[in-house]
Amino acid sequence: MSNSAKVKELYSLISSINPKYKFFNNITPLETLLQNTKEDSKLITYALKDNISTKEHPLTCSSNILNGYKPNYDSTVNKLLKQQNNWINLGKLNLDEFGMGSGGVHSNNGVVINPLYDPITLNNNKNNTNIETRVAGGSSSGAAALCSAKPTFSTDNLPFERLAHFTLGTDTGGSVRLPAAWCNVLSFKPSYGRISRFGVLPYAQSLDTVGIISSDLNIISQVYGILDKFDEKDPTSMSKSLRKHVTDRDYGEDNDIISIGLIKEFNLNDIPKATKDIYYDFLQKLMEMNEIFEIKKVSVNSINNSLPIYFTLAPAEAASNLARFDGLRYGADGNETVERDLKEDGMFVKSRSLFGEEVQKRILLGNYNLSSELYDNKYKKAQVLRTELINDFSSVFKDEHPVYPTHFKAKKDPVDVIISLTSTDKTPLLSDFLKSNSVSPLDEFCNDIFTIPMSLAGLPVVSIPIKNTGISIQILGQFGFDEKVLRIAQKIENLLLK
Ligand code: GLN
Repeated sequence: MSNSAKVKELYSLISSINPKYKFFNNITPLETLLQNTKEDSKLITYALKDNISTKEHPLTCSSNILNGYKPNYDSTVNKLLKQQNNWINLGKLNLDEFGMGSGGVHSNNGVVINPLYDPITLNNNKNNTNIETRVAGGSSSGAAALCSAKPTFSTDNLPFERLAHFTLGTDTGGSVRLPAAWCNVLSFKPSYGRISRFGVLPYAQSLDTVGIISSDLNIISQVYGILDKFDEKDPTSMSKSLRKHVTDRDYGEDNDIISIGLIKEFNLNDIPKATKDIYYDFLQKLMEMNEIFEIKKVSVNSINNSLPIYFTLAPAEAASNLARFDGLRYGADGNETVERDLKEDGMFVKSRSLFGEEVQKRILLGNYNLSSELYDNKYKKAQVLRTELINDFSSVFKDEHPVYPTHFKAKKDPVDVIISLTSTDKTPLLSDFLKSNSVSPLDEFCNDIFTIPMSLAGLPVVSIPIKNTGISIQILGQFGFDEKVLRIAQKIENLLLK
């Protein structure tokens, strides 16, 4: 079968299932897909979270405030992917509005349905009110769900057994790792600054990191290799000299025993027993391979401050970033808005009410944290605590932090990488997720308890499912040592998780 025929088949499948599953905010038109398809080599299909700019599609961030907006430029990541021969961008993927959320339920385009629990069948019943419907996780919900989606019928006519080889999401506090875990696929959040954020709409710019999702770690490494480049258009891009500094110090670990840390302070008491059993069983197997791995307990003293630090800093940054959406340049029509402003209750209320509820909540929280009376005791304090956390993490790893060497703290018994659970439990039912959200909006924040610390410290993390369990683990290392983390993850996957 020709590549063009496969693309047609794939296009018709994703177009027919999207009204139900809501993976995409925007599917690339068939004509464009065919123009990009060549017959000379293997096809690779991918798609991007809809907070990453492409010239070809509108950018919505799943928000009404961006109605009608189409960027006239490409993000650097899109530019780099477009340079690959026969790599086809299927479109833009649904997300929690502006990346805020952990369930894929805060989108102006509807809730993303997890295809693992609602399998894709030939005759998809659009009105299927299956009570077992589960969330895809968020905020890169469409990105994880699309990589996971695997039709139940023969896929000989598709380029791959899944609907996409990989997707790009963004991870500010866990947004590629949590949905990937809940959709049973792998994900990689590189070190902060490794992949360019030029053209990626900021949520909280001191944390935002482009991440890669796939069902195959080799593909993740390949895509990372393409995107891991200095970009002068991104002021936070890791400099060339820093990249070289780290590469020169990555000595490999092939002949050494890999030492793995388990964080003492992570409280597993409230984790459901079934989840703990799966995790302990995995650790037990790891421990038995004592000619390859050694397991140690490590202390990251301040790790339990992570959630309050994050929910002080991330909304504060978001409130500043989202101030640009003032209704004059995006969203409501400019002239109409000015007229309305003169007649009615002001431009601000009208335009800002185009934000969804979750985003409005974050803007309020962020501005509250930044208000002059609270600034010292909240925002500034959170910054101080964040630095403490970075240092605590740093003192655990054998590798020296390339930006803040831990000269003031002796490393006691350092490790190569740390392992932890990715999420506190298996994928929740959509109904339970919505219920707990309406009872306490803070419940949703707690889903990220295991992913946020690494985002605050900017560390590289791979998340991998423990086969057939619905539970994933994270493998993380020192800032900048992304390749080392990928290598060790590959080893652990090969030995224990495949
Ligand atoms: N769930 C977290 C939040 O809502 C993380 C989101 C993200 O990583 N983009 O802030």
